[in-house]
Amino acid sequence: MGREFLDLVDISEAHKIIRNLFKEIYHPPRMEKVNLKNAYGRVLAQDVKSPIDLPPFNRASRDGYALKAEDTFHASEDNPSTLKCIEVIEAGDIPQKKVKRGCCSRISTGAQIPEGADAIVMVEYTEEDDDNILIYRSAYPGQHITPKGSDIPKNDIIARKGSILSPEKIGAISAAGISKVPVIAKPKIGILSTGNELIEPSNDQAPGKIFDSNSHSIAAAVKNCGCEPKILGIVKDDYKELSKAIREGLLECDILITSGGTSAGAGDMLREVIHDNGEVMIHGISIKPGKPTLIGKVDGKLVFGLPGFPVSALIIFDVLLRPYLMELSGKTPLGYHTIELPLAHRLHSSKGRIHYALVKVKNSKVYPILKDSGAIASLADADGYIKIPKNVEILEEGSKVKVSPFLPYEC
Ligand code: AMP
Ligand code: MG
Repeated sequence: MGREFLDLVDISEAHKIIRNLFKEIYHPPRMEKVNLKNAYGRVLAQDVKSPIDLPPFNRASRDGYALKAEDTFHASEDNPSTLKCIEVIEAGDIPQKKVKRGCCSRISTGAQIPEGADAIVMVEYTEEDDDNILIYRSAYPGQHITPKGSDIPKNDIIARKGSILSPEKIGAISAAGISKVPVIAKPKIGILSTGNELIEPSNDQAPGKIFDSNSHSIAAAVKNCGCEPKILGIVKDDYKELSKAIREGLLECDILITSGGTSAGAGDMLREVIHDNGEVMIHGISIKPGKPTLIGKVDGKLVFGLPGFPVSALIIFDVLLRPYLMELSGKTPLGYHTIELPLAHRLHSSKGRIHYALVKVKNSKVYPILKDSGAIASLADADGYIKIPKNVEILEEGSKVKVSPFLPYEC
């Protein structure tokens, strides 16, 4: 069959197709249990409830004397109450003696309140006098006592489904004695680079060859979306090799992202390979850069063919894949906002296609980066991109544009 583009689809149609594919193939998301040690940044797949009361016992929140508040009601600097100390309770001890009227127990912060006591007077307001303790301040019932279950009652939700496990949430979960948590399994994304001209960056430079940069930039972008990238390497523009690499890659990955070989040139194999091994859903999107994008299905899984040009590959990733990968990994693009700023100078666009232009933001102005989509330097220099509607040919200096930033996202 020919490799010519099918009908170009517009971007909203592409989104619709991709959204439906994600829903059909990857819903509901997989869940796994991870040790708390490895839980930072992961997304909770279920509510986590506390199996215990927290604190698990009435607990001292100050160093001092545990006593009956009524024994101190008339205590003052001039007229201290005199109580008998019957026990010393350190954190971790189990109190042995009941505190009765006229008695008290020395207690440390974090220790369990002995039976009979209902308040603590801080050690600063007391004085030892042989076996007696002089109490110089009155206390109210409950003073400096954290009641059992007052922090988190048993069966209360500590962290909700969908929340990202922050240090604070991990702290609360471990305080409840939970060591494993149910999280959304990180989708595994295979990454293949295609092209006879490509060599690994670890190789020596060779005539006619270029280093594969897409594998690495896409892997970082995938990680950025909360997914697990697996770089599968470089494949030649060879029908058999490419078919084999795609099928093998899909055995161990949920989604496969390829780059290169999506156009209609002699060496561009992807369309034929996907057609013969599965189904091509989209070939060609009316945007710039990134027209030669291919979306298909092989073995019931999604294959996303990005164009080879590094800028095109990353912009298409950002526009068409990032939102869905983030949703799949549970890292819904919270705070993924555009920033509206004026253009620093006039910008020409091509009519008829939505145009995504790389930009740099400096002194609250937007500077378009005017290089073609093969230019690596423009990528490294860019802070984000702007979207120019298809019917706009010129954007005047000073006109307000919305910048989609290449956000660093914590993984
Ligand atoms: P293609 O989409 O295969 O026609 O490639 C378009 C351009 O992108 C060519 O100049 C390729 O050499 C370049 N290219 C393709 N794949 C990669 C890659 N993995 N890393 C860097 N450049 C690439
Ligand atoms: Mg190629």
